[in-house]
Amino acid sequence: MKTVGTFLSRPWAVLVATVAFGAAMSLASGATIQVATFFLINVLLAHSVNLLTGFAGQISLGHAGFFGVGAYGCALLMRDYGVPLPLALAAAAALSSIVGYLLSFPAGRVREFYLAMMTLGFGMIFYEIAKEWTSATGGVMGLSGVPSPTLRTLSMFGVAIGPAAYLWIVLAIVAATTALLRNLIRSHFGRAYFAVHMSELAAGSVGISEAATKRSAYTLSAALAGLAGGCYAPLVGYLGPDSFALTRSVEALVMAIVGGLGSLPGQVLGAALFTYLPERLQAFAEYQFMAYGAILAVSFLVLPKGLAGVFTAPPRFAKIHAAALPSPLPVREPLPVADSPLLQAEKITMNFAGLLALDNVSLQLERGRVLALVGPNGSGKSTLINVISGVYRPTMGRVLFKGDDIARRKAHEVSRRGIIRTFQDPRNVPHFTVRENVLLGAHRLYRHGLWGAASNSRIALREEAAFLRQVDEMLQLAGLAELADWVLGDLPYGTQRLAEVARAAVSDPELILLDEPAAGLSETELEKLGVMIRQLRERRLGIVLVEHHMDFLNDLVDGVVVLDSGKVIYRGDMEGMRRDPEVAAAYLGIAEEEPAHA
Ligand code: ADP
Ligand code: MG
Repeated sequence: MKTVGTFLSRPWAVLVATVAFGAAMSLASGATIQVATFFLINVLLAHSVNLLTGFAGQISLGHAGFFGVGAYGCALLMRDYGVPLPLALAAAAALSSIVGYLLSFPAGRVREFYLAMMTLGFGMIFYEIAKEWTSATGGVMGLSGVPSPTLRTLSMFGVAIGPAAYLWIVLAIVAATTALLRNLIRSHFGRAYFAVHMSELAAGSVGISEAATKRSAYTLSAALAGLAGGCYAPLVGYLGPDSFALTRSVEALVMAIVGGLGSLPGQVLGAALFTYLPERLQAFAEYQFMAYGAILAVSFLVLPKGLAGVFTAPPRFAKIHAAALPSPLPVREPLPVADSPLLQAEKITMNFAGLLALDNVSLQLERGRVLALVGPNGSGKSTLINVISGVYRPTMGRVLFKGDDIARRKAHEVSRRGIIRTFQDPRNVPHFTVRENVLLGAHRLYRHGLWGAASNSRIALREEAAFLRQVDEMLQLAGLAELADWVLGDLPYGTQRLAEVARAAVSDPELILLDEPAAGLSETELEKLGVMIRQLRERRLGIVLVEHHMDFLNDLVDGVVVLDSGKVIYRGDMEGMRRDPEVAAAYLGIAEEEPAHA
């Protein structure tokens, strides 16, 4: 069955199938055309839910609200103000996207259960407004007289639009939207949506703003649902509030889930199922909700990835074929060297409800130097990395990066300035391939915008090509080139660690913080790590390296800071550290015996 999916992964095949569908349908009876158009509208609605829930990971039980804003908006503009169809549809999408943008602010503050409740609340409020605001929506009596292709009251540029012509218009909209979405998902925007979904820590560490990403997902998702609503209004010619009740929101969500969250072709399948199945099951109309529940439950059991899992390949998140891309944009020049030290941590204190994890810790680092941060487990090494990278706010103290205090900045702001870190437990996006994960590191360097990404503009393709080339070079260096197209979550721990370091390296940082990068690596992997770190030092980066392996550190580091119980107990070179009695007492005796992993 995957062969169908493989066939349909070719753009020309999709185009042929789309045109064939349009041609077959427009020759059919009026009722068939109506249902087919309704199916296409459902595809848009499913795309909308999928973008927000499948990609960005934000559950929504209020999509009927966005759908309704678009439907009423389009209907009123066309009926009362004589606005032509294309403009009315654009306005419907715009109006709904504004509502989505506004909703993203409260929604961005809550998660999971609370988010579900909040979006449910939005849907209910919209439904009540649709019922009560009689002067605009006609209240429970509904809004009739919308120019309609079925009643031959719809025209565009003076030409009457019948049901078949309307089908072609909606088909063109759906095809174009799907193509734009596909390109968008395979860009740094799509990677950001999914990264925020899978690991907010990883996303922040490469400069992805969680809040901004969620805002953009809500806005776009609402625009799509609004567009769907806009297309729906003329199709039915009459809008009653019950078309925008909770049932519709649930239906949209179930459609996207059963189709396969995270898959674009899956949404077409889900929409087809939920358009044509109720048609066949007219007798069950009263038990519709029960039928949805049953389908959902069964699908969770037998189709965990939805219909898409059976018919199509998993989605990809990069404009993959670097070779086929146009010539890459030139890569950025090396950074000018400033006078101030790269990093100065001054008197950092971190107090976790009485536990002093860091006590007055200071350190300094210049460009092109490697500073090892060592100490027994629980001595505060990871906490210091978290403070410098903006994951924690220190209780006291300053973190100066090139002279600016960044101690109270958010993680994504810190990484955008050029401080990139890895985590003691690797944080990757397990569904991404190795290459996609490493490419995620370049996020903060992308300059092309949403439209460029969605339309595959020349600039967008050249930029992606430039970064893909760098990624492939880095993968070569890391010994991961063979595994580039493997899904990272399926690969061993050592590979995940190296991929994370490679991700940090392609982000073109000025300062890189590696939290125990060598833990759990094999001999060969250690060697690759050493090669990568040396290359970073040659690029004149500052490197902070938390490590237990003394052999690994020996010929790599320029200086050492030893922490014990949150205090600096030694500062100097490796030789001196070996002879230092306090360090020996606190640390070396233990580390030699058990190369620890915290
Ligand atoms: P290391 O990385 O050197 O092994 P950590 O920085 O992880 O040590 O931890 C230092 C101390 O701070 C430990 O006692 C740890 O339990 C505590 N700690 C770290 N993070 C938190 C947190 N988020 N909340 C409370 N205590 C924490
Ligand atoms: Mg640690």
